[in-house]
Amino acid sequence: MNLFDGALQQLARATVVSPISDALHQRLLKPEREITVAIPVGMDNGTQELFEGYRVQYNSLRGPYKGGIRYHPQADISEVRALAFWMTMKCAIAGIPMGGGKGGITVDPKKLSKRELEEISRGWVRALYPVLGPERDVSAPDVNTTPEIMSWMADEYQKLTGDTRNATFTGKPLDAGGSEGRGAATGAGGLYVFEALKTKTKLPTSVTVAIQGMGNVGGNAAKVFHQHGHKVIAMSDSKGGIYSEKGLDPDAVEIYKKQNGSLKGFASAEETTNEELLELQCDILIPAAFENQITKQNASNIRAKVVLELANGPTTTDADDILFKKGIHVIPDVLANGGGVVVSTYEWEQNLKNEHWNEDEVLGKLRKLLERESLSVWERSKKLKTDLRRGAFALALERLEEALEHSRS
Ligand code: NAD
Repeated sequence: MNLFDGALQQLARATVVSPISDALHQRLLKPEREITVAIPVGMDNGTQELFEGYRVQYNSLRGPYKGGIRYHPQADISEVRALAFWMTMKCAIAGIPMGGGKGGITVDPKKLSKRELEEISRGWVRALYPVLGPERDVSAPDVNTTPEIMSWMADEYQKLTGDTRNATFTGKPLDAGGSEGRGAATGAGGLYVFEALKTKTKLPTSVTVAIQGMGNVGGNAAKVFHQHGHKVIAMSDSKGGIYSEKGLDPDAVEIYKKQNGSLKGFASAEETTNEELLELQCDILIPAAFENQITKQNASNIRAKVVLELANGPTTTDADDILFKKGIHVIPDVLANGGGVVVSTYEWEQNLKNEHWNEDEVLGKLRKLLERESLSVWERSKKLKTDLRRGAFALALERLEEALEHSRS
């Protein structure tokens, strides 16, 4: 099953416990618009290469499309469509005035020079700028896209359109109009969601955490959990991971990886594979890398008490059912990793109002919002006697239904 079919399967399962109108159902089965573009890039060796880029504008019932841009060799339109669908749900769950979108380029950015990377990023904007804009479609970082890439894109958009509001791309560096707190927002948001549900999921005050992936999301999550007194017992990147029963210092792990290119040989830790990491005994397992990591093949081996999904789509539907039967709470991506899009929306708002909020203000607002919506999701799942994913979808669907009603009146 491809990722988009999996996403629609989640929708179908949610509508069984929380029925929706036929009109809304139809609107959610397909994106409103999807675009594939060819991006020409003059390579350093003098040749020209064409790369495929995408933007999927899934749903705008609640506001402008909002969603990140992913650079990955396996990125394709179907993956981007699934991610754009989830953004629609995520923005509705967070209650922010945004619809759902997502973008991508099929490329391995590690094989590009910095100049080529800038060229491809500006090329994506040149190909798509007529359908972007603060009131139309607002982009952000995702896998392999950095604040610097966002600043190139913002600059290109401004050159092409003359729009100086700087609110079409979020996740920019601070000195280029970015928001305080955006870098850590997805990881910090994960902690706030976990803390809001900690007593409900019967977890102790201080927990052990295993984290798969140490990019923007996983790396920041490790630091934030560590700073709040939790014990990070495992971390990994694409090449493998490390485990220490005594706990790891995420800052030291990050420095080690920068110096050595991998986690191999990190002092006083055992090596582990990404597959083994998922099955470690711990309180919280945080998948923060890619989709389809917890499947029917390994779900029965998961020993965590809670799975906090900071990656998008890490758990398949079959695995959801196995984990639910085992009494493992899965805090779904559409709630757990919403911190990124919420702070992106704060950035958009600050840019439009020409304001700059301090980090305490940004993270304070984020925490309040995620605490409130986490409890709303929990209540719905209890009322509907279902898992948290269907509880979260139920909340999103109520809000989308309301938006559809307003759009007709
Ligand atoms: P990133 O590019 O910064 O980092 C990805 C990390 O995953 C890297 O550490 C990489 O080494 C690791 N990785 C790659 N392949 C792996 C594998 N097979 N096993 C284990 N680790 C692997 O990306 P990111 O922005 O941190 O995004 C990670 C996930 O979080 C994605 O699913 C993304 O859609 C989701 N997400 C990102 C944001 C955001 O604000 N960046 C917001 C919400 C959700």
